[in-house]
Order: sequence, then structure tokens, then C-alpha cells
Amino acid sequence: MTRAQMTRDLPRRARCGVLGWPVAHSRSPAMHNAALAAVGLHEWHYQRLPVPPALFAETVRALHRVGFVGANVTIPHKQAALALAHSSSRAASEIGAANTLTFAADGAIAAENTDAPGLLAALSGLGELPAHPRALVLGAGGSARAAVWALRERGAEVAVWNRTRERARALAEQLGVRAVDAPEPAELLVNCTSVGLYEPARVERSASDGFLLNQLGITLDQVGEYPNVVDLVYRSATTQLLAAARERGARTVDGLEVLVAQGALSFELWTGRQAPVEVMRRAARAADGASA
Ligand code: NAP
Repeated sequence: MTRAQMTRDLPRRARCGVLGWPVAHSRSPAMHNAALAAVGLHEWHYQRLPVPPALFAETVRALHRVGFVGANVTIPHKQAALALAHSSSRAASEIGAANTLTFAADGAIAAENTDAPGLLAALSGLGELPAHPRALVLGAGGSARAAVWALRERGAEVAVWNRTRERARALAEQLGVRAVDAPEPAELLVNCTSVGLYEPARVERSASDGFLLNQLGITLDQVGEYPNVVDLVYRSATTQLLAAARERGARTVDGLEVLVAQGALSFELWTGRQAPVEVMRRAARAADGASA
């Protein structure tokens, strides 16, 4: 961030929020409101914006008139957010989705995707990685697109696997990476499927562990073939994928770290202030019981 951006004049009072459908369990309000208070923006407020697809465009276009400076965007609106923006970053355009909108005073809407750089920032939690790691991305939905794009930009040699093969092939073709019919060993594994989101809170050693991982196309033993594992699923309890990876000595990063990293980048876009990452991390982790 440049000095000009860091010192720009800010409105005394402003609103931000997260647009989704549903969005009731989002941890972003807790995380952002803690951050706003920590940097002294006491009259700024971040709120949930539950908006169905049919009302998305007209709602977004009206937000700046009622004091919003920006909004995060989550399922199912990320593609629609990019489509209605007046300008977009290279990341958002190439990924084909935006998770962050910024509203100018004249109502112009700028689209950004902080999921991609957020993932790269969160990778620092793994320690040193090779310059060009072999990476396997599981999934072909919205978050997989951002992860594949980010890892490719980072210089990784990316392969993508998905339950529905055609989707993996289409994504790989669009983003210039390789689709694989079965997960293969890699230096970095990134789970971008929703497998693990609804598993029991307590991780038990049972046949069901193997069952959940099989939905990802890998056995428990094969988890040992990945020395670095990131699971985008965020929940209070450890996911079975991360538990199995840790048991086998892998370095891991969980979905909350990725959530905090993307949120920190959105926060900086709207406020021009350095995000208080530790405050955001504590607030996100304290928002217990939330699942999305
Ligand atoms: P999405 O677009 O709906 O994609 C879902 C993906 O999961 C698809 O690849 C789908 O495969 C796969 N999948 C779903 N159920 C499956 C099953 N039973 N077995 C195998 N694969 C299955 O969702 P998304 O936006 O990419 O989000 C994926 C996950 O990442 C969610 O849990 C979300 O909460 C999380 N996420 C976290 C962050 C963060 O900041 N930590 C950010 C974004 C998303 P098919 O194509 O075969 O259906």
C-alpha cells in the first residue's frame, strides 16, 4: 500500500458489509468490526447483507447512497459482483469473480478478488516453500478458481482434481494448468471443496474419517504424500483432512487463516489503514459456532 493510500482522508462515519445468500453465519462482521475499532474508526460499521440473487444488482448499486464504502461478496454472488462493477483488477477479471467491491463517491464500483492474494499471504504460515512447488488443488468451484490462479501467479506447477471431472478440465483449460483424473502427490495440497464443512465437530478415529477423505479422492495413507496442506473449509473444529495431515507431520494452514488474510486485504482497500491482523484473527476464531 502506498503512503498516499495510507494517509488519505476517510469519512468519519461509513458502512461496509458482506453480501451473501445465506450469510447469517459469516464471521466477517465480528472480524471487521473488531478491526475498525482497533484502528479508531469507531463510527464505521460492518454488517451482514442478506440479499437474494434477484435483488443483488439493484441492492449493490444503491449501497453507496446509504453510506457504504465497500462490501465483501460471498456465495452465490461473486460472479454477479464482477459483472456489475465499472472496473476490475486483473485478478478479479482473470478469476472471473470478485469478493470485494469498493464504492467511490460518485457511485462507481470497483471489483477486486482478495481470495487469491489472501491465500498466498496465508501460505506464509507453512514456512519456507520451494520457488516453484508442485501444487494440487482439490475442487473446481469459485474458491478453486481463485486458488489455481493465485498459485499459478506464485510460480507453482498446478494440477487440479475435482469430483466432477469435466469441471476440473474446463477450469484447467481456462487458467492454463493441468487437470488430473486422480489426486497425485505434490509439495502443496489445497482443499477448495466443501468436503469437511459439515463433518462431526469431534474428530474421531473411525471408518468415517476414511470416508470423508475418500470424497476428496485420497486415502488416509495418501495424505502423507503432501508435506504442506491448506484446507479452505473454516469451522471451529479441525477438519479431518488437517487432523490427518498433522498426524503425518505435514505443515498446515486452516480456512480461518485464509479468511483472515483475505479480510485484511479488503479492510486495507476500504480504509487505507494497515489491517490489525492479530485482532482480526482473534475475533474470527472467537466467533464460535459459525460455519460459513
Ligand atoms: P463451490 O463453488 O460451491 O464449489 C464446491 C466444490 O466442492 C466443487 O468443486 C464440488 O465438486 C466440491 N464438492 C462438494 N461436495 C463434494 C463432495 N461430497 N465430494 C467431493 N467434492 C465435493 O464452493 P466454493 O466457493 O469454491 O467454496 C468451497 C469451500 O471453500 C467452502 O467450504 C467454502 O466455505 C470454503 N471457502 C473458504 C474461504 C476462506 O476464506 N477460508 C473462501 C472461499 C471459500 P463438484 O464440482 O463435483 O460439485
